[in-house]
Amino acid sequence: MDSINRRGFLKRTAGATLGLTATGLLLPFHTKCQAVSSVLELVGKNYLDERIIENIRKIKQENPTLKIGETHCHTTYTDGQYPTADLMQRASMLGLDFLIITDHWIPAHDGEWGWPLAHSLASIADSAKQYKEWNHPELEPIKVYPAMELSTHQGHLIMVFPEVYSKPGNRRDLVKQFSPLDNSMISMEVAAGLAKHLGGISIIAHPNINRSYPFGVSTDFAKQYLVGLVDAIEDVSTGHGYQKNYSKELGL
Ligand SMILES: [Zn+2]
Repeated sequence: MDSINRRGFLKRTAGATLGLTATGLLLPFHTKCQAVSSVLELVGKNYLDERIIENIRKIKQENPTLKIGETHCHTTYTDGQYPTADLMQRASMLGLDFLIITDHWIPAHDGEWGWPLAHSLASIADSAKQYKEWNHPELEPIKVYPAMELSTHQGHLIMVFPEVYSKPGNRRDLVKQFSPLDNSMISMEVAAGLAKHLGGISIIAHPNINRSYPFGVSTDFAKQYLVGLVDAIEDVSTGHGYQKNYSKELGL
């Protein structure tokens, strides 16, 4: 943390502490508890952000040609907590070079409810709009690659497409390609092939995590059927709490 950042951090922390003191004088106990927890969250978040920003800055200094981005996140178009604009602003603030927003596409299957393709497409359209209408002069507009997280028979697969598919005319190609698949699940091999066919890449999401429905493909299956087809695998997931060297295991 350099001295300017440290000052900023201390100032915000001090501000939070002052707020807490004032709250302590005025509010009844249960409200006080709520206030304390939200202040702690605020202090924790600011501290974490400072560390993330510093770490990203350090990695970039040591590897000037490296591009760093978040490759798996969701917005309120599916099950994320924040809208697209907020995610983009935060990614830029942290110093990332790009964002891959992976809203879910869950084709209906066996009469079960799904998340139609339209949600992922609306998310892609929104990020393109937010980029175009970027309104934060203090921050660099962040590049967002069009992407989605598709539920397949074996589990979730992230498909990332070339930037050109953010444009309305080209998004129609995604509609044409994928709409016929909105009512039936496909296998992960087929999905990875489709991503490749469109000039994109695919990333295996949260491998080896079992749920009652297809969620994380096993690395045994991946070794047998997906090597040479998929481009990457998630080695680290804060959302699902693991850190493994799957990419080395699969030679990716
Ligand atoms: Zn997933």
